[in-house]
Amino acid sequence: MNIKVPKPISGGIILSYKCNAECRHCMYACSPKWSADWILKKDLSVLLNILADKIEPSFYGKNIIDLNLGIHFTGGEPFLNFELLCEGVEMARELKIPSLFVETNCYWASSDNITKEKLLNLKNKGLNGIMISVNPFFLEFVPFERTERAVRIAYEIFGTNMFVYQLEYFQKFKKLGIKGKLTLEEYSRMDYGIHFTRYTEFFIMGRAAYSMEKLGIFPKYKVKFLIMNKCNPPILRNWHNHFDNYGNFIPGYCGGLSLGDWHEMDQILNDGIDPQQYPILFTIIKNDFKGLISFAKDYGYEERKNGYLSKCHLCVDIRRFLAEKNEFKELQPKEFYTHLE
Ligand code: SF4
Ligand code: SF4
Repeated sequence: MNIKVPKPISGGIILSYKCNAECRHCMYACSPKWSADWILKKDLSVLLNILADKIEPSFYGKNIIDLNLGIHFTGGEPFLNFELLCEGVEMARELKIPSLFVETNCYWASSDNITKEKLLNLKNKGLNGIMISVNPFFLEFVPFERTERAVRIAYEIFGTNMFVYQLEYFQKFKKLGIKGKLTLEEYSRMDYGIHFTRYTEFFIMGRAAYSMEKLGIFPKYKVKFLIMNKCNPPILRNWHNHFDNYGNFIPGYCGGLSLGDWHEMDQILNDGIDPQQYPILFTIIKNDFKGLISFAKDYGYEERKNGYLSKCHLCVDIRRFLAEKNEFKELQPKEFYTHLE
């Protein structure tokens, strides 16, 4: 029997996977190396029209932003194509989509004037707010002065509709008097040592699975322990899914997995996930990781005897292997699997 897909009430629109940065923790394996396949304006319009009657506002009102409600523009780095970002905001505003914000790493905030001009422009077009990304992984690519500037000016323009993810790091970097960029290793020497990720939310998925393995700072677990856990947050949910520039309806934060083509959203919501068409996706949603491993082994996958950092590490490692077979339409976009390391 097919598995029902919940109607999305919020989410992020990936304008492109292209990014100025190549963060070691990126869930979507974004980087400057990706093809610059920005979402076509006509596709963006189609997507926003599909979402318009489904998206729910923040509990505090349609003009207030909320990480898990409303719509956000993301990437990759959406400010790399500022014109497209502006057009997306205008389209969403015309459709009265609530709780609209953009997520950025602030690489572009090179002066007060530029920062003010861009943020005012977006606000005037109807953007409700902004989420500014801060942690030691971004610090490898974005000078901290730019982040500080963007936070200061975004607060002047958007007020409390500006939030910093993660505030703990922003405060810590200020206290440490950080200037410019720092490698992860330099930062580790300055502060928490190798344990800094323990104090804030951190998902070992996507590129993080491989880069954290190289860093050697997390313990590994045997498969028999990992498969006892459910995906957390759940893979199928109505909140904070993603919609990419290639048409993929991505469950949650699970980069490289597709519930189908969002152009056919009605069909996805009506028909659900067919086990014949999407065997990998179906097995993952059923939380049958034993079945998934056995399925992958039939194709030649070898389970790592020394274990995995997380269940998502196990999941992405199997998917990366299976993606090379070019047989599975739920393993999209293909390029994701080539940018994990
Ligand atoms: S985490 Fe954000 S800034 Fe870093 S590579 Fe991914 S999309 Fe770019
Ligand atoms: S185990 Fe796989 S499906 Fe589950 S949350 Fe992690 S990446 Fe997503």
